[in-house]
Amino acid sequence: MQVLQKKPQDIKRPSLSSQDSYRGRFAPSPSGLLHFGSLIAALASFLDAKATIDANGNQGKWLVRIEDIDPPREKVGASTAILTTLEAFGLHWDEDVLYQSQQTARYKHTLNELKRQQLSYYCQCTRNEIKKLGGIYQGHCRTQKNSKEESATRLINQYGLYQFNDIFQGHICCDKKLAEEDFIIHRKDKLFAYQLAVVHDDIYQNISHVIRGCDLLEPTARQLTLYATLNKKAPQYGHIPLAVTKPGFKLSKQNKATAIDNNNPQPALISALLFLGQNPDRYLVHEKVPDIINWAIKHWDREKVAKVKEINIELN
Ligand code: GLU
Ligand code: ZN
Repeated sequence: MQVLQKKPQDIKRPSLSSQDSYRGRFAPSPSGLLHFGSLIAALASFLDAKATIDANGNQGKWLVRIEDIDPPREKVGASTAILTTLEAFGLHWDEDVLYQSQQTARYKHTLNELKRQQLSYYCQCTRNEIKKLGGIYQGHCRTQKNSKEESATRLINQYGLYQFNDIFQGHICCDKKLAEEDFIIHRKDKLFAYQLAVVHDDIYQNISHVIRGCDLLEPTARQLTLYATLNKKAPQYGHIPLAVTKPGFKLSKQNKATAIDNNNPQPALISALLFLGQNPDRYLVHEKVPDIINWAIKHWDREKVAKVKEINIELN
């Protein structure tokens, strides 16, 4: 079947109002190597940034943030390996890489600020206790005046935001009960929760667009509530389909079949573009990486990304 290719000049470019500039990011956790599933997220966030031109004629900026706040889940050497792979695939970031492990004093400050404003409380409930009460936390400790020892910190959820407009998926309605829960922002084991760190850093880095996989659709609701609580403007979100091996099973970092080869990036780049619906020209697989990337920026079309949460991929 012949696929009609839109000419670059016919593609509707994302528009920005005159003062805004585009700042996107890719935020991998160093729990393993970059694999085909994460390459798709890296590529989509990169292309969406680079295809967006602001009023001054500048391309969007694309940043990389290493989300290394969970040491037990970290693999030695993974951060460096991820960065090496991004470079081999022609995905060059614009500013210094931010490491979440360097941000703890700032997270602490935000945590203290929420506490000072009485927007959080300590909770000593166990997972089992919450499970017995139906799985959704009912605010049991809001009035308990627990001390800090062995406590998690929960946010007083005043907003329960659960709907938003997604760049690729359209109108999204998250699980309302889950979105209204007083969720954890600081864990019992003294680690900062993903929700707090990710929102803090997206604000800190002035991120305007968050493009990532559909596995993070539900957490977006909580992130929107955190933005509202901190009185900050939320970025625009765009969630691309998740690559799965069968329904509900996302590609794992352990799965050798989905590993990608730094020494031969072209085939994986073309597969990633196909996955994102971008109809890459056949000859591209024989081109140099920067030429493929330039083609992809020029032809990036948000409307061609499938409006589904998962796509099955064949492992060979
Ligand atoms: N670090 C998260 C992950 O690897 C992604 C965070 C995000 O993109 O918001 O799943
Ligand atoms: Zn509790």
